[in-house]
Amino acid sequence: MRVLIVEDEKRLALSLARGLTAEGFAVDVAHDGIDGLHRATEGPYDLIVLDIMLPGMNGYRVCAALRAAGDETPILMLTAKDGEYDEAEGLDTGADDYLTKPFSYVVLLARVRALLRRRTRGGASVVRVGELVVDPGTRQVTVAGRDVALTAKEFAVLEYLAVRAGEVVSKSEILEHVWDFAYEGDVNIVEVYVSALRRKLGPGAVATVRGAGYRLVGAGA
Ligand code: CA
Repeated sequence: MRVLIVEDEKRLALSLARGLTAEGFAVDVAHDGIDGLHRATEGPYDLIVLDIMLPGMNGYRVCAALRAAGDETPILMLTAKDGEYDEAEGLDTGADDYLTKPFSYVVLLARVRALLRRRTRGGASVVRVGELVVDPGTRQVTVAGRDVALTAKEFAVLEYLAVRAGEVVSKSEILEHVWDFAYEGDVNIVEVYVSALRRKLGPGAVATVRGAGYRLVGAGA
């Protein structure tokens, strides 16, 4: 899952980016509202962490502009101090949730996960596809009750296929949601990870749809 952080406090942005990257998210950072809006418009993000007080364009305006353009990406707003800014206004402009600074990273991560769960899985905590169970909260994967150990990137590829279970997902979509903006390599890197997933989950777990991409079929197949 790919996350955009729009935050002008560079140390905070960096620490959030590091934390989320360690959790297996692909993370991009913008330090002002204009760049943030531009990136949010260009990139296929699964979630945006958006500070309110930003140079260039404030978070309310960024949020309102995205919603006006029909962009429904979940937005978690960061407010500077309880009561100083109007959380109701944030929610009115189309934010999905807000968090008041200072916050603990653990709380932020829980909110990020909750938003993604709501948006991508209708609130379900795990994704089940046949005998395969993927739990994005604990990053645990089981096949018929047996634990499968995956690397962070393998998990990220599987998670994206899992939230789109039943659909055909193209290599470039996987690349866009699992790798960050800085990745400049070949789209065929995705094949390497799909091969690894087949090796670990079973050869039939991920079907190739010729010329279109992949579909998660489930494991044990
Ligand atoms: Ca700020």
